[in-house]
Amino acid sequence: MKIIDAHLHFSNIESFKNTAKNISHLDYSGTGLKREFEASNVVLGIGMGLIESEQGGFPDYSSDNPMGLDLEKCIPEPLVYCVGINPEKLKGSIKVNQLYDIENELKKDRVVGVKIYAGYYPYYVYDEIYEPVYDLAKKYNLPVVIHSGDTYSDRGLLKYSHPLAVDELAVRHREINFIIAHFGDPWIMDTAEIIQKNSNAYADLSGLLVGDTSGVNRFKNERLFVDHIKRGLIYADNYFKVIFGTDWPLVQIESYVDFIKYLVPEEFHEYIFYKNALKVFTKIEKFLP
Ligand SMILES: [Zn+2]
Repeated sequence: MKIIDAHLHFSNIESFKNTAKNISHLDYSGTGLKREFEASNVVLGIGMGLIESEQGGFPDYSSDNPMGLDLEKCIPEPLVYCVGINPEKLKGSIKVNQLYDIENELKKDRVVGVKIYAGYYPYYVYDEIYEPVYDLAKKYNLPVVIHSGDTYSDRGLLKYSHPLAVDELAVRHREINFIIAHFGDPWIMDTAEIIQKNSNAYADLSGLLVGDTSGVNRFKNERLFVDHIKRGLIYADNYFKVIFGTDWPLVQIESYVDFIKYLVPEEFHEYIFYKNALKVFTKIEKFLP
């Protein structure tokens, strides 16, 4: 089975490098990514644009828009990306220039969506500050991925990353498709309700756990943890609204594929791992083998 990894990272972020080295035990580089992709038959990855202008600064208020993938000089072949937005730079006199730069980036071939870091930046996703970005997403017919749930930094603020805020956004912008990242974990049931209510709301299954193979297996064997996620999948009762992603480098791809296969009934694997991503990220088709 061919797989699309619809949520991963390829940015020069200190906390990602530390996690790769000490927790998920993987090679956080283009070479390491390609090796893991080949081992699991991942044919395309969608990177989430993010920049840390100062080491350890993520979530960084001073990075300019647009935020991209800067781990290495070149973005490796099997990657396309979503442009990351820093709302702190969408204020005052710099706003016009920042939006101009975002728009130019959105015209690029390999840009397939927009990424909003709710919780990392202290704004609700329906805040006016993001409206010009949604207008651009609409203009270029791009989906918007919303960080949701727990933040991978204790400087985040969880009230802004609660998935319930996406409901208001999805209602306001019916013509944009929104992807709630991480199934909104730990607010899985709230996310399930939002994706089953709103035709334009989807969820990705990335980042539900962090660790190497033994770390993943520890949770896989913990019934309450597995049921916590399965309950949401069963409640939403729509495997066409859920998209596979890893959040690499926070987990090794192969063990995470196994974990998601374990959660999702086999008859839907083709959709979760491939077809649903292709439906939502409409620009990726030409990058697929
Ligand atoms: Zn992520």
